[in-house]
Amino acid sequence: MRRDIHRHPELGFQEFRTSELVAERLTQWGYSVTRGLGGTGVVGQLQRGTGAKRLGLRADMDALPIVEATGLAHASCHTGVMHACGHDGHTAMLLAAAQHLAEHGDFSGTLNLIFQPAEEGLGGAVKMMEDGLFARFPCDAIFGMHNMPGYPAGHLALRDGPAMASSDYVGITIHGNGGHGAMPHRAADPVVAASSLVMALQTVVSRNVDPLQMAVVTVGAFHAGEANNVIPPHATLRLSVRALDRDVRTLLQQRITALAQQQAASFGCTAEVEYRPGYCVLVNTRAETDFAREVALELVGPGRVTLQAPALPGSEDFAFMLEKVPGSYLLIGNGDGTDGGTFAGHACMVHNPGYDFNDASLPVGAAYWALLAERFLVE
Ligand SMILES: [Zn+2]
Ligand SMILES: [Zn+2]
Repeated sequence: MRRDIHRHPELGFQEFRTSELVAERLTQWGYSVTRGLGGTGVVGQLQRGTGAKRLGLRADMDALPIVEATGLAHASCHTGVMHACGHDGHTAMLLAAAQHLAEHGDFSGTLNLIFQPAEEGLGGAVKMMEDGLFARFPCDAIFGMHNMPGYPAGHLALRDGPAMASSDYVGITIHGNGGHGAMPHRAADPVVAASSLVMALQTVVSRNVDPLQMAVVTVGAFHAGEANNVIPPHATLRLSVRALDRDVRTLLQQRITALAQQQAASFGCTAEVEYRPGYCVLVNTRAETDFAREVALELVGPGRVTLQAPALPGSEDFAFMLEKVPGSYLLIGNGDGTDGGTFAGHACMVHNPGYDFNDASLPVGAAYWALLAERFLVE
């Protein structure tokens, strides 16, 4: 099933085949299945016994616009679309747990299996919540899992508190006054103003953010001008801005906006700042993370569990679900290249064209979900 999904990757909100497969299997195993939450999202619900507790387990289903370069037999058959983040594995692990829990699950309560679309930047989690995910399927706690190259296959890594960064998009347009390249005194040069701004932005993290806090300000795009002898009227910058703390995130917005406006003004230009909030900081709650740790230790033992892993500067839209429901997001190792003889792409980072989800992690991840459900859903 994992390799079948890998062979047929679908971009965000277009997971028609994948969600069909998920819905079909869940139905076949006796789940009550709701489709069309957030477009292609699926929820499978299974109630057993008289227990009052309600658990949510979430997997993501979308792929990325990448040309696959693994050369594997199960490589993508849609050129330019690839499961380069392992969401094929996440979906397969939760489905495997779903089958096991339906056939042998020893639990009492309500199990909600959430298969979300469009995690990769398009905000499928929020779309599912706007369609009433937690109103229709209330959860007392929610858990999600992402594979992580660099950890040995099947290794489990947890963290309480802020675990993944917020991610904001900033577009800055510097409006100057264009003119002849030979007569800069008759123009207001937005290229010089924008260049100065790029350098000034480097001081936000080094001079404004508390040294003990994490923040990233990256200017990833700088566009201005066409000809060597023309001073253009505008220059544009595009930034990626990250933080692990809500107050730091607010500070970054204030400082970036102020610097853009004041730097531009000092060169006789003006700045237009478009600040587009992306994913929020992912915060794992303490009690639910402690519970998830206990399940990890019980399943694989202390040698294969990292109890408090470092935070990641990447972002993840499960963060929005964790703003509504307590829970925890954990990592499962995809391979660190020391396990010998396995595909090199297991240690290669996600979003790389050579990446592949490690099937050796499938039984661990599926068994983890099953055990977590059995430990959580008790009378
Ligand atoms: Zn990804
Ligand atoms: Zn991912």
